[in-house]
Amino acid sequence: MKEKRKERCEGAADEVTEEEEARFASARLRMVERLRRQRIADERVLDAMLRVKRHLFVPPHLRSYAYEDCPLHIGEGQTISAPHMVAIMCHLLDLRKGEKVLEVGAGSGYHAAVLAELVGEEGHVFTIERIRSLVDFASQNLKKAGYEHRVSVFFGNGSLGLPKFAPFDKICVTCASPDVPPPLVEQLKEGGKMVIPLGSVLQDLYLIEKTRSGGIRKERKCAVSFVPLIGKYGFRER
Ligand code: SAM
Repeated sequence: MKEKRKERCEGAADEVTEEEEARFASARLRMVERLRRQRIADERVLDAMLRVKRHLFVPPHLRSYAYEDCPLHIGEGQTISAPHMVAIMCHLLDLRKGEKVLEVGAGSGYHAAVLAELVGEEGHVFTIERIRSLVDFASQNLKKAGYEHRVSVFFGNGSLGLPKFAPFDKICVTCASPDVPPPLVEQLKEGGKMVIPLGSVLQDLYLIEKTRSGGIRKERKCAVSFVPLIGKYGFRER
């Protein structure tokens, strides 16, 4: 009988057999090839996505869809972003080894793991999430996937940033805001970059660069669709 490797979460549905692991590895390779065909040409980002096991970041009943290029429900009305969106945001941030990154909206923890691959062992990712159960979900997933020492997960309102750990080289906001939250600009290093979806119904992804004089340069990149950033500097909860 094939030996089953039990993962940290309880329950039979959470077990992944060696055969399934092999199937997921092939699916991951196909996902990356598909992204390459969609003209995502940043090989560092694609390599990072090849290393992160996305199936460990989705609820067990959705694992067979883990490598499809679509967002998936992770509970609490929230989603893990589609792989192409993770790739685009990571590419725009132009991440380098040793950088310190803030992510707003931990969700499943997947995007944080890809960011961690890009900044390497010398860097660190701080991710903040406003829904307590998702803080636990992201933390458990990151541990299962082996990123617990490279990613720190916090509970709180990410529109305020994480002043205790600022300044950050890069900031990745994974929920849509009405405007760029001033605390995030303050906590970005001069010369640092931030990606952030702006807008409510119609949203666009922006690349923000903090200039040497402390101002910002803002460039629209593409139309997107994200869940809202809730809280001070974001939208009101409905
Ligand atoms: N990066 C996540 C991943 O890899 O699974 C996907 C994030 S999901 C698209 C957006 C997340 O932002 C949700 O989990 C939501 O709860 C969170 N969020 C919304 N407003 C927030 C806030 N003010 N502070 C922190 N997280 C927030």
